Amino acid sequence: MNTISTPSTLLADRLRARGFVGRLVEPSDPDYDRARTGWNGAIDRRPAAVAYASDADDVAAAVRVARAAGLAFTVRAGGHSVSGRSVRDDALCIDLRALNAVAVDIGRGVVRVGGGALLSELDAATQEHGLSVPAGQISHTGVGGLTLGGGMGWLMRRHGLTIDSLQSADVVLADGRQVRASVDEHPDLFWALRGGGGDFGVVTSFEFRAHSVGPLVLAGVLVYPWERAGDALRASRNLMDGAPEELTIFDVLLTAPPQEPFPPELRGRRVAVVGVAWCGDPAEGERVLAPLRTGFPPVVDLVGPMPYVALQSMLDETAPHGWHFYDRSHYLLEVSDGFIDTLIEGFESVPAPQAHVVTGWMGGAVDRAAPGDTAFGHRGARAFTWIIGCSGDEPIGPVADWVRHVWDETAPFATGGVYVNALNSERSVRDAYADEIWERLVAVKRRYDPDGVFAGNGIR
Ligand SMILES: Cc1cc2nc3c(=O)[nH]c(=O)nc-3n(C[C@H](O)[C@H](O)[C@H](O)COP(=O)(O)OP(=O)(O)OC[C@H]3O[C@@H](n4cnc5c(N)ncnc54)[C@H](O)[C@@H]3O)c2cc1C
Repeated sequence: MNTISTPSTLLADRLRARGFVGRLVEPSDPDYDRARTGWNGAIDRRPAAVAYASDADDVAAAVRVARAAGLAFTVRAGGHSVSGRSVRDDALCIDLRALNAVAVDIGRGVVRVGGGALLSELDAATQEHGLSVPAGQISHTGVGGLTLGGGMGWLMRRHGLTIDSLQSADVVLADGRQVRASVDEHPDLFWALRGGGGDFGVVTSFEFRAHSVGPLVLAGVLVYPWERAGDALRASRNLMDGAPEELTIFDVLLTAPPQEPFPPELRGRRVAVVGVAWCGDPAEGERVLAPLRTGFPPVVDLVGPMPYVALQSMLDETAPHGWHFYDRSHYLLEVSDGFIDTLIEGFESVPAPQAHVVTGWMGGAVDRAAPGDTAFGHRGARAFTWIIGCSGDEPIGPVADWVRHVWDETAPFATGGVYVNALNSERSVRDAYADEIWERLVAVKRRYDPDGVFAGNGIR
């Protein structure tokens, strides 16, 4: 087990006195720069220290010590927050990565997942039993942050958002108490944890209902040249009109990298990539996808049976650690021709080869829960678009300007709402919720965190 770094400091002494046994990395520690760095290379912050909790008791000790010392703190799981809200200047960062155990209870059909686990760890453990919990699309994202905001991914149209499979959560509250939240225990807190964005306590463990998925799914990508990009999005939309829930499509506008599977004539040029995933009977999937694949043939067709875990990491290369990112998103009630044309026009001026735009179709099981059943604010949306500005190792400034421009141009087609997991300093958490959900969230916040010590998103 890790021990607190030496030489001892006041903070280290206080943590040890509270029984904290994890590692504390302070600015004098040679590992400090590594410890303070998250996924987004554009974020450069200097926390007071990073406390690597080893279990729920460590988390409770860190919360109590920080509060007693008047020290602000943040919570970090996968470190994937685009705005970098898991690390703040001069605050204590409570890191949960060591809480990454995943235990599958086959008899009960549930999975217990540590609050610091990554999607790759969740998928690896569940797929050993042919099971899955619906989650996101980049395998090094944290289960913690993703779940607390809602959780959208390849399986959502069939099995719902990640929160729709959540059965209970073990939580360290703002006063250091440890409670379980479920429909029976602290139901108001449980409601808020399902989409409220995480500012209600530290979840040290999630319990999810598991679903039978894989090990093979019918999935992959169809690549279209830029002059057919608008038609590719329209063909996707037409297929998704009334499509079975087993089918999910994510359209990506990107600059083809100089490598396989892109043919030489497309490399370095803008393309539309239609990413598909079918999680039902493969023969039926082939039939459902035929109108797209044969009716609107791509230049590259890589759709076929693939391991579910391969699908879950298929897009990892678009989002490596350390690149500089800035992004914005929209929810859409419909994917109109006007929206598609505006998006295509906006992508014509993309200033960096790593920047891309993802449009994913929602509906299906996402809409089975009524709007107020959980705190997630966007049931009923047809799709979402995520404008992902990325400049590689270069400063993000000009790319961020482009993201804002495309976002502004496409805003007239959008709901005006924002995914709480895609907030940045320019969007308020208030924009993530309708009035009724917002009022309930504020009431839960006042009950469980009256002093607002969990302040990542600013609900108060
Ligand atoms: C490349 C990339 C791809 C993404 N893809 C998807 C996707 O497919 N689907 C989707 O829905 N979202 C997606 N997201 C958004 C993602 O859900 C959020 O960025 C999320 O916050 C990441 O969680 P994390 O634990 O990795 O982040 P962190 O930065 O560690 O955490 C972010 C915040 O979440 C809260 N938090 C995290 N864990 C806990 C916990 N255990 N208890 C209490 N609070 C906690 C804290 O407030 C923390 O500051 C993606 C983001 C990126 C950068």
